[in-house]
Amino acid sequence: MSPSRPSARPSPPRPAFHDRRGGPAPRPSPLLKPWRGVIETYRPYLPVSSKTPVITLLEGNTPLIPSRVLSRRVGGRAEVYLKYEGMNPTGSFKDRGMTVAISKAVEAKSVAVLCASTGNTSASASAYAARAGVRSIVLIPSGAIALGKLSQALIHGARVVAVEANFDACLALAKSLAQLHPITLVNSINPHRIEGQKTCAFEICDALGRAPDINITPVGNAGNITAQWKGYREYYDRGRIRRLPLMAGFQAEGAAPLVKGKIITHPRTIATAIRIGHPASWQGALAASEESHGFIRAVSDRQILQAYRLLAAEEGVFVEPASAAAVAGLLALAESGYFTQRVRSRHRGGPLIVCILTGHGLKDPERAIKSIRVPRPLPPALSTIAKAIGLK
Ligand SMILES: *Cc1c(COP(=O)(O)O)cnc(C)c1O
Repeated sequence: MSPSRPSARPSPPRPAFHDRRGGPAPRPSPLLKPWRGVIETYRPYLPVSSKTPVITLLEGNTPLIPSRVLSRRVGGRAEVYLKYEGMNPTGSFKDRGMTVAISKAVEAKSVAVLCASTGNTSASASAYAARAGVRSIVLIPSGAIALGKLSQALIHGARVVAVEANFDACLALAKSLAQLHPITLVNSINPHRIEGQKTCAFEICDALGRAPDINITPVGNAGNITAQWKGYREYYDRGRIRRLPLMAGFQAEGAAPLVKGKIITHPRTIATAIRIGHPASWQGALAASEESHGFIRAVSDRQILQAYRLLAAEEGVFVEPASAAAVAGLLALAESGYFTQRVRSRHRGGPLIVCILTGHGLKDPERAIKSIRVPRPLPPALSTIAKAIGLK
């Protein structure tokens, strides 16, 4: 039968899927729209074409969680939301940029990718490289990355090189290696990373139906604040939002080059993901803060750890210390009267605030254990245990 001629008696339509006993598989609920990852969702905004192989772990679509505790702390009818980027496939926002960077590397026929990392970039790069079937090489500052992140890079099969130097020196080495050899650098100086990471801002606007008044983010190498601002601006230029947010960035006090206006040779903070003294996206971060009438400030490790415990104990959200810098910053602003003095007058209701929680708490279990009292073992006697719990 010629395929062009319709058959006289069409056969009954066949269901698309069958289970093994031959019956039709249940149809997916029309309410459940399958998520297809950030490249397919935001394709018109990204540097991909029909020729780009899409390497994805279905990253993005992370929860935007309303925070009652933080809204109350800010007061004045503020609404605070937490964008929980720790819920990405490898546990940090880095996946948003990595899906684009690795897809473009594969399109360019790269056989290996390389990065310097405080941990999460290497975790993400190695996972996406594994999925793409390309080699990954990571340079990490020895002894300065959280155990969870190191285990990710290793289990995904990355070639991990621990360098006796800090992150900034590792990045300089990685740049030189990528210049001398045919391997793709996937640090955030790779513009495809920034392109992918801007989808975080798109998701926030899509979920809220507008941009927040204030977007608060931790700042390390400064790629993320740069990317978010780019995302908001693109949505604004295309008429998807009518106002732009104020961008607030927070660095750790001992690693605050953008606040101090100079390179920090020996950055120090317990928040390893932002322990960076010479941010690659320095200019991008300054532009984001200036153009949005925002600012970049510092918080102490003590403030970071307080926010870290508060999020976990009072809000049920477990993040890594670097992520808590955003919330530490919010609390510091609230305590200084920032919202009553300056912001309230500009917004009719209370301000709408989004804190970007960049990475998952399970990345750094050692820090969690150090931040709490670990229980002493007790004999298995009912009365002893009841007493320990505080039951009579
Ligand atoms: C990478 C990272 C940061 C810092 O982001 P930059 O783009 O380097 O400013 C903050 N928190 C976590 C968890 C990260 O992985």
